[in-house]
Amino acid sequence: MGSAGPPTDPAGPGHSAGPVGGAGPVGGASPADPAAPQYRSLVAELATLGRKAVAAGLVQGSGGNLSARPPGAELAVVTATGTWLDELSPAAFSLVRIADGIVVGGNPAPSVELPLHLECYRVRPDVNAVVHLHPQLSVLLTALGHPIRLVTTDHVYYVREVRVAPYRHSGTTELATGAAALLADGRCNCVILSHHGCSVVADSVELAHKRAVNLEEAALASYRALLLGDTGTVCPPEFRARLEGSGD
Ligand SMILES: [Zn+2]
Repeated sequence: MGSAGPPTDPAGPGHSAGPVGGAGPVGGASPADPAAPQYRSLVAELATLGRKAVAAGLVQGSGGNLSARPPGAELAVVTATGTWLDELSPAAFSLVRIADGIVVGGNPAPSVELPLHLECYRVRPDVNAVVHLHPQLSVLLTALGHPIRLVTTDHVYYVREVRVAPYRHSGTTELATGAAALLADGRCNCVILSHHGCSVVADSVELAHKRAVNLEEAALASYRALLLGDTGTVCPPEFRARLEGSGD
């Protein structure tokens, strides 16, 4: 142990784990590391979400960013800047303190959209996952002034309500606070960031993923309905009433 030896964990918080694949978490990871046990499963879930989101065309290139936290925790894992969502290794995550945005472990350079993620957690204590993607039809329809209509029962069940934040530059506090404000009353979990993408939140990575998929699916249905000359059809309101009347 004393002399230059075989590969060991690099010391210090800014360790470079290298392009490790999905496996091989660092043994004995410190609590302030995305590879620590309490974050390991979240990192794996987000990596799966990223792969599926890219495969489904919900984001292109290195766009989009993801985060999650253990329920109610003060720290969140956030994808690092420049990462490709279908190539997320454990080294592609930063561990960030939600209260002040300080990076406490993992990749030292979190996504430029970090403020968006942090603001969502700050206004919604029930939220444990934030998914920011660039779903093309959702963004296009909104840019053209067409609402994303919830046509099927799945759309209503998972999406419930879509709100639109006006255009703000990427990575700014204005974009973050504007989007978070639309989530604050707890009635909306899917915000379109005009001419840019979406911010979808949930109490779990899995539910956030399902919401994002259904948001874009609803946009696709709305688009097809418009092509067929329909401008108003939505899911029967009694489905929503039943859903909300029964408490979920
Ligand atoms: Zn974006």
